Amino acid sequence: MAGMSSQRSNLADTLHGLDGRSYGNLKQIRGRYRFGPVTLFVNRVQADPFASPSKVRVRIEHADAKLPPELITDRQDRIAAADYLLRAGNTALGRFDRKAIILGRPGQEVLERTNVRIDDAGVEARLLVNLPARGRRILGHRAADLLTRDLPDLARAMFLCEKWSDGIDGLRQHVQLHRDQLELRDHLGEAGLVGFIANGAILPRSAGDSDEPMNPEQAVPFASPPELEHTVELSSGRSLTGMGIPRGVTVIVGGGYHGKSTILRALERGVHLHIAGDGREWVITDPGATAIRAEDGRAVTGDDISPFIANLPSGTDTRTFSTTNASGSTSQAANLVEAIEVGARTLLIDEDTSATNFMIRDSRMRALIPAEREPITPFVDRVRPLLDRRGVSTVLVAGGSSAFFEVADHVIALDAYVPHDVTKQAHELVGVDPDALTVTDDGSVRQPALRIPTAKALRPASKTKSARAKGTDRIQFGRAFIDLLAVSQIVDAQQTAGVAEALEYLAEIFDGRTAITEALAEIDEMLDEQGIDGLTGHRDHPGHITRPRAQEIASALNRYRELLLVE
Ligand code: ADP
Ligand code: MG
Repeated sequence: MAGMSSQRSNLADTLHGLDGRSYGNLKQIRGRYRFGPVTLFVNRVQADPFASPSKVRVRIEHADAKLPPELITDRQDRIAAADYLLRAGNTALGRFDRKAIILGRPGQEVLERTNVRIDDAGVEARLLVNLPARGRRILGHRAADLLTRDLPDLARAMFLCEKWSDGIDGLRQHVQLHRDQLELRDHLGEAGLVGFIANGAILPRSAGDSDEPMNPEQAVPFASPPELEHTVELSSGRSLTGMGIPRGVTVIVGGGYHGKSTILRALERGVHLHIAGDGREWVITDPGATAIRAEDGRAVTGDDISPFIANLPSGTDTRTFSTTNASGSTSQAANLVEAIEVGARTLLIDEDTSATNFMIRDSRMRALIPAEREPITPFVDRVRPLLDRRGVSTVLVAGGSSAFFEVADHVIALDAYVPHDVTKQAHELVGVDPDALTVTDDGSVRQPALRIPTAKALRPASKTKSARAKGTDRIQFGRAFIDLLAVSQIVDAQQTAGVAEALEYLAEIFDGRTAITEALAEIDEMLDEQGIDGLTGHRDHPGHITRPRAQEIASALNRYRELLLVE
């Protein structure tokens, strides 16, 4: 114990001694220090006060932290528990200098993040710290307080459960919710459902730029139509009842402003699990479900969009379609085939963000323009072959056209936010026998050829760190920018940073023989095995990243304008 406290005074003494000296002298504090149960690692010291913050870790071993072992049994438990500790840290951070200590603030989702890690030996937080300065001079006394008093205090507040306001119970509930959500998600897959929305769920958000729930006094809680109601009994004893969306084609209709897009948006986010009180904690979607929209202007490299677009007047082969400037319909076709390529078996499509000519063509237009003069085969003609040949389900919002009634297994009408099953009426209106939905299938929906990037495809000329997130919607990759504005299922900038790291990882995998699908599977396998830290080259302190899905990594790769494929 004496040795430890002398280490402590060492760091404090060093920092006091550095007061007023030029900033570069801080380099010497790199190292490892003990403060009671807390170990502090100074992994990287910023070169000057305006550079990216210093990298510091605080750690407490399990023998001292005493987290209940039954709550951190496996990888998923630890993801949930780490999320809880990170939130506890954010609460505690209010007492400290928020500008100096950056812990990373989680949103409504429970995701695997680097910020807090629970391993077999202990639990640690990875912090970014702005070491204090005046001009380019070290504020040594402030730095001593920050590193030798505040950070150990923060670690205790995060990791010692006797410091938590709701004790162990809060952690227990957090982990149990996560377990229940995962069990429900597994159950849905087995029950043939692509999505589930529990009765009582609060789907609308408090504002267009917020992910927090609408005030429950204003929101109409979700209530399933009786025809689609599904009840699940979980092994914890929890029972849930709500709307199950079966595999197949589901169309959501209803008047403008009646809540259609809100449901679809909740399903988009249902690929991730949400915290208690979010309102969507029991909205669970097939984890590979992907939102598909039009995105004119994007680049496309070698996609097989021939099921949707063929016979272009230019004679271009649309089985390997490339463009630097896609139209509304070609971009939506590209987004769709790319999603299926990485394994999406549920597509989520909203009329608000779709290209009309991609989705439908009415009978008069079909009469006026002969099929051989129209390159586009609309989605309405392909939605059943996609299901039958590729196992791809679709949930679609379409308030402006009845075109999808003929190909829908289920039609749900929203009336003042309340869903009704109107499948029977919709089928009657178009004269369809629900047991024999008319399907035109010319066999053009099939598994496309593998796309294989060249060995240099992701190696930009510049030698500097190549991929860097710029907020949530953009990645700088070499000198190019990847625009992710249309990739709506990325939750925040920290997940975009995860996508950027994944691009660097992909650069190492691509050798001119490995297909995009194989490389993404390799990343997922590595992540399942090593955890999120495995994505970065900096094992001692990986910075702040969140695990992205393969879908979002692929989305960034596919939008990289300099992507090159092997012919
Ligand atoms: P639509 O796509 O049918 O035009 P939206 O889903 O965009 O409608 O919803 C319109 C408005 O209604 C939004 O401001 C949304 O926040 C709000 N809203 C959606 N669902 C609910 C609900 N269950 N309770 C209260 N307000 C809701
Ligand atoms: Mg809408």
